[in-house]
Amino acid sequence: MKSVRRRWPLVVNLRHLIIALTTSSAVVSLLATFYASYKVQRQQLIAQSLESNLAYANKLASSTDDYFKGVLQQMAYAASQVAPALNDTRRVDAEARRLHLQTDSLNSVVIADSAGRVLADSPPQLNLRGSLLHTPQATQALEAAGPRVSAPYLAPSGNMLVLVSQPIVAADGARKGVILGAIYLRQQSALNKLLGTHYYHDGSYLYVVDRERRILYHPETQRVGSVMGINPAADRIVQGVSGSEVLVNSRGVEMVAGYSIVPTTGWGIVVQRPLSATLAPIGALMRQVMEWTLPLAAVALLLVWAFALKIASPLHALAATAASYRPGESDARLRSISSWYLEAAQLKKAMLRGLGVFDGNLRRLQKDAATDPLTGLGNRRQFDFSLAVLTEGETPFCVVLLDIDFFKQVNDRFGHNAGDAHLRQLAGLMAEGLRPEDLACRIGGEEFALLLPGTALTEAVAIAESLRRRAAESAAPDGQAGTLSLGVAEWQGPDDDVEAVLRTADERLYAAKAQGRNRVVFG
Ligand code: GH3
Ligand code: MG
Ligand code: MG
Repeated sequence: MKSVRRRWPLVVNLRHLIIALTTSSAVVSLLATFYASYKVQRQQLIAQSLESNLAYANKLASSTDDYFKGVLQQMAYAASQVAPALNDTRRVDAEARRLHLQTDSLNSVVIADSAGRVLADSPPQLNLRGSLLHTPQATQALEAAGPRVSAPYLAPSGNMLVLVSQPIVAADGARKGVILGAIYLRQQSALNKLLGTHYYHDGSYLYVVDRERRILYHPETQRVGSVMGINPAADRIVQGVSGSEVLVNSRGVEMVAGYSIVPTTGWGIVVQRPLSATLAPIGALMRQVMEWTLPLAAVALLLVWAFALKIASPLHALAATAASYRPGESDARLRSISSWYLEAAQLKKAMLRGLGVFDGNLRRLQKDAATDPLTGLGNRRQFDFSLAVLTEGETPFCVVLLDIDFFKQVNDRFGHNAGDAHLRQLAGLMAEGLRPEDLACRIGGEEFALLLPGTALTEAVAIAESLRRRAAESAAPDGQAGTLSLGVAEWQGPDDDVEAVLRTADERLYAAKAQGRNRVVFG
């Protein structure tokens, strides 16, 4: 099995990086937007609900206050009517009935004298006439100096009620008796009607408590008369404060509550709505936010992508060119890259400059490696390379090998420097009249070669002969040292063995030496 080698640190593509970066930043900002708008919507929904619950509690408190003021006023009028005529049974009776039946404010009415003896009652089913009032609430009402609303209590009749009372006072200020009105809390009453019209389907409701936290009205009628458990709204009512807040009710449910005090009784009306119901519209609101935001965000993201990729594109192209660059290759590809911003342009410029220097150096090195430093002709390496090119390309050629005659003597007589100068002069002679495809090389100390592609043997012999003649004319003053011996051979195609051809040329060179030097041997 081939094991997969991981590269570490992982090399990541710039485009992928940019896409990952832009996408993640878009996602993060979208989430932030959603979170912020969720928070704002939530706050607004709660604030609206707090406000409307408080407004509703205030309205009910003022209606309830009006109701009690109205009841007390009616009772005060009735008291003034019976005060001078308490002995007139018919009149007292009629007044009790009128007070009870004219409005539906009170469930029952009782008129008693200052001793607490019942003078009249309505409805007559109460059957209290002649009896003595004895409940603590009735006693307190008898003793009270002014109008009074009792705390709720369970009457001997089995009714949960509050007792509203108005003293009957004679013109001289003497206490003559009391008018009592009962408001039943668990049965139909004007107060229940007033409070009970409030009805929501979303779990919101209202209740009323007095300063002792006793429940006076509650949608669950069995709770009327009981004491409210732990509830911050009830705490505020005990303190006589109106307001609104999000609280946890006595059942552990989070509620948005508004509460308001009824001034005449000190009761508190609490209107509350479950927080979950208050926040119910938030899902739809958030969907709306998403419907608006997502398409815009998608368009923005695409634009950012496109722009980011445009920024990355010159870098990408520069990197791709650098990765696939081959020495000596034309830099046209590099030049064609559009580097439309400063950094990319600077990189491109630096790369062009760098590759230019590199290519120049490489060419010089290649040339140096193939050049003989003394004469500037090709060296042995160049000769072998050109020979390989010709044979591989199946280009017929002739090769001329030459050696300077008695060159040692040149050195001996004129010194080594003069010998070098002689070598350079010969190089000049060899290069003269050569076609561009021909090659002159120094393949040994004072041994040279000519490679003549596409040249017939006779032509090559003529070129060799011309070179021999010119060399002889410029040879050392004694006319001997410095002449050339040359051997010529021909490679006609792949059927010929190139080594054999070179050997032949070499043998002919030595034959020229043997035959007396300063000559060309070619057969
Ligand atoms: P022959 O005619 O038989 O070739 O006689 P020759 O004296 O030329 O003999 P040979 O070819 O054996 O001698 C080569 C001499 O060339 C030996 C050396 O002193 C000289 N030589 C080789 N390379 C250089 C060089 O780079 N500079 C100089 N000045 N002399 C060189
Ligand atoms: Mg030699
Ligand atoms: Mg020689």
